[in-house]
Amino acid sequence: MNENCKQPGRVVPLVDRNRCEAKKDCVRVCPYNVFEIRPLSAFDKSALTLVGRMKAWAHGNEQAFVVNGQDCHACGLCVTACPEKAIRLVAV
Ligand code: SF4
Repeated sequence: MNENCKQPGRVVPLVDRNRCEAKKDCVRVCPYNVFEIRPLSAFDKSALTLVGRMKAWAHGNEQAFVVNGQDCHACGLCVTACPEKAIRLVAV
């Protein structure tokens, strides 16, 4: 466990839908299974920029989603691992 880990429930990761390319690094590095890769809904796609839509299409219309945000320990491993710089941690 990273020494920067904090009590869960204080922050959650936020995925930038216009940056995520579903490369799964966040899924691999998160010790608490906070992420999963799943298809974008029609609603998710409608909120993308034109470039975001093109990127999503090029990557199978799949992205990382936060499914267990309450388990986030704020270690920051996902932020560092994401090659697209698509993840930031936000206070809840
Ligand atoms: S900050 Fe750490 S615990 Fe939180 S989602 Fe990222 S990798 Fe998982």
